[in-house]
Amino acid sequence: MELCIDFGGTEIKLAVIDGTRVVASGSIPVLGSPADLAAAATEARRLLTETTSPADAVGIAVPGVVDPTSGRMLHANAKYDFLEGLDLNVWALTEFGLSAVVENDARAALIGETSTGSAAGERDAVLVTLGTGIGTAAMIDGMPLRGRTGHAGILGGHLTVDLDGPICPCGNIGCGEALASTWALPSGTTMTEVFTTDAHPEIRGRFLHVWGAVVTSLVHSYDPAVVILSGGILRAGDAVRAPIEAHVRAHLWPSMTPPHFVVPPEPELSVARGLSVLARATTIHTATPQEEQ
Ligand SMILES: [Zn+2]
Repeated sequence: MELCIDFGGTEIKLAVIDGTRVVASGSIPVLGSPADLAAAATEARRLLTETTSPADAVGIAVPGVVDPTSGRMLHANAKYDFLEGLDLNVWALTEFGLSAVVENDARAALIGETSTGSAAGERDAVLVTLGTGIGTAAMIDGMPLRGRTGHAGILGGHLTVDLDGPICPCGNIGCGEALASTWALPSGTTMTEVFTTDAHPEIRGRFLHVWGAVVTSLVHSYDPAVVILSGGILRAGDAVRAPIEAHVRAHLWPSMTPPHFVVPPEPELSVARGLSVLARATTIHTATPQEEQ
């Protein structure tokens, strides 16, 4: 069994997973201070008392860049700047006596969906989460891309879509996320309003156009068989998925086969599923050639 902790944008989601079964789950609000870590540990211990057998490992997802070698967070969004540089493996050892694997949240969601979720068995996939920001991750031939310093595949929201667009807080110009995300909305306007009412047709059209361009660039970059679209706004159904898919089909490189698009039916489980897979892998002992001799 694995204890999975997802440090999300508005809440910290925790789950204990046995195989593909969620045996206990809970969530706590994010305060944006080191107190979040203590609260997460308390909630995790409460969940572990609800289970019949002990957890074997911990999986932790963070909304930021994780060094693939050390597991430390290299860059966090504002709410979690207190996690930067922190060794969460040491934290998990101290709090639970268990070692932890730390992963970027979008990459964990991609691993979850391609292992036991909506794209199970797919080896070439791109995941795009639309919402507060634009989270992305990519897998090629069964391998989630991490790259030299952990940045590969996860910066899809920071591809330039408009060279004459605004400077993004990341430093780049006209990023997709700077043009079409919750924080790019005019104040007082919500995503739900934009996508479930006819109050803001111009914003809706522009956002879908930007997301279509972002996904087309990701398909051109990674040649996926499947594109997984996730995030709360996908609950608006085909109003979001269909225009993005149509944009990709209309502007795809001529010799490419269009990927198919899936929307996970249980997006709240994507990250936990991925963390469970990653954490379980750390507990399976594989004999080294030296040990076999
Ligand atoms: Zn940016």
